[in-house]
Amino acid sequence: MDIRELQRLDAAHHLHPFNDNAALARRGTRILTRGEGCYVWDAEGNRLLDAFAGLWCVNIGYGRRELAEAAARQMEQLAYYNSFFQCTTEPTIRLAAKLAELAPGDINHAFFVNSGSEANDTIFRLVRHFWAVQGKPEKKAFIARHNGYHGTTVAGASLGGMKAMHGQGGLPIPDIHHIDPPYWFGDGGDMDEDEYGLLAARRLEDRILELGPDRVAAFIGEPIMGAIGVYIPPRTYWPEVERICRKYDVLLVADEVICGFGRTGQWFGSQYFGFQPDVMPVAKGITSGYIPLGAALFSDRVARVLREAGGELAHGATYSGHPVCAAVALENLRIMEEERIVERAREEIAPYLARRWAELGEHRLVGQARIAGLVGALELVPDKPRRSFFPDRGRVGALCRDIALRNGLILRATWDTMLLSPPLVITPGQVDELFEKAWKTLNETAAELGK
Ligand code: PLP
Repeated sequence: MDIRELQRLDAAHHLHPFNDNAALARRGTRILTRGEGCYVWDAEGNRLLDAFAGLWCVNIGYGRRELAEAAARQMEQLAYYNSFFQCTTEPTIRLAAKLAELAPGDINHAFFVNSGSEANDTIFRLVRHFWAVQGKPEKKAFIARHNGYHGTTVAGASLGGMKAMHGQGGLPIPDIHHIDPPYWFGDGGDMDEDEYGLLAARRLEDRILELGPDRVAAFIGEPIMGAIGVYIPPRTYWPEVERICRKYDVLLVADEVICGFGRTGQWFGSQYFGFQPDVMPVAKGITSGYIPLGAALFSDRVARVLREAGGELAHGATYSGHPVCAAVALENLRIMEEERIVERAREEIAPYLARRWAELGEHRLVGQARIAGLVGALELVPDKPRRSFFPDRGRVGALCRDIALRNGLILRATWDTMLLSPPLVITPGQVDELFEKAWKTLNETAAELGK
């Protein structure tokens, strides 16, 4: 492989998502060639411990031949058919039924798409439709959180609360309202965490009352806010949000695109926090990232209206319920169940990882080490005893990320927070390796900063 030539072609022809493309072209992109378990290799032959599971998605680890075989079998038998013409395929049906079995409570109905972003677009439209066909077309406002992430389509990015995304393309679209997220480390002051959780949840009630409950269709939130820096809400937050949604008949949408399929050590993030959503977008871990697939999952109540009162559902994509993607998802879920991957992550890995993560929290550069199951963050700070931030936000995080790569470790940085989301199949020995590499990386980052 001619790496320099590939880098030249990449710089000339490929626009990378969420990148400063000019800077990347100057630096030269890293080309990945192979993966196995928790490791990936780049074209230069470097082996990297992937502590981020690709992009929060490779839950069963790289290189599972069974998934490739499931895709090949389905491609040979019937590579494609749609679900439009009063027909569908066996894997699509079986996957919908499997999701109904795994999803909590009465979430029993799936609408398939290709990604988490499209799942959120689907939800945005179908939730409004749900209220409209019941004679409540005014009940169409969505409440979401500042700095939340719900994808990159127009509705997904509007529901998300990322200012940089809103700044490109004139978002958000109308009638989407954002409230402050539950971020105790940055916002909680001297408050007890549980007390702060209630306060943060009640921001939702205030906004519902301000808008009028008859105008509010749904509240959407990630059980744990991932992209902004793994904000793990206090235990009190979600049950209070659920109470408020029920009180005002506002649908509760749990965006499970990251948390779904075992990330927290439970199958879904809502189970980790003990609340019951009405609607759940899922993607990523549904296929462990081996092939694109997303779904909008609905409760019996919502689906009954969409099925019976709504007439034709004027929504769908060529690849809604693609049989190859469904076959891969089924194989992924079969492996997860048969090998007890979620249970093992919860019982064997999460407690050990939490212990080692807390040790990293002792480092002089770390203001807070937070973790829930197999998702966590290290908040880097200039002045450990105080909850403060570096002035030029993002510079230290990028430095730390680059040093980690040099040390053979993939950690993502959001501003100056280092994010953790390893494959669920990580072993205790690999947790130790992660710890050693992360500790060395923190030391070298501190040294570069003269600390
Ligand atoms: N929702 C959440 C919580 C996410 O983290 C993401 C992606 O990271 C999305 C939605 C969008 O999913 P996708 O990138 O598959 O479109």
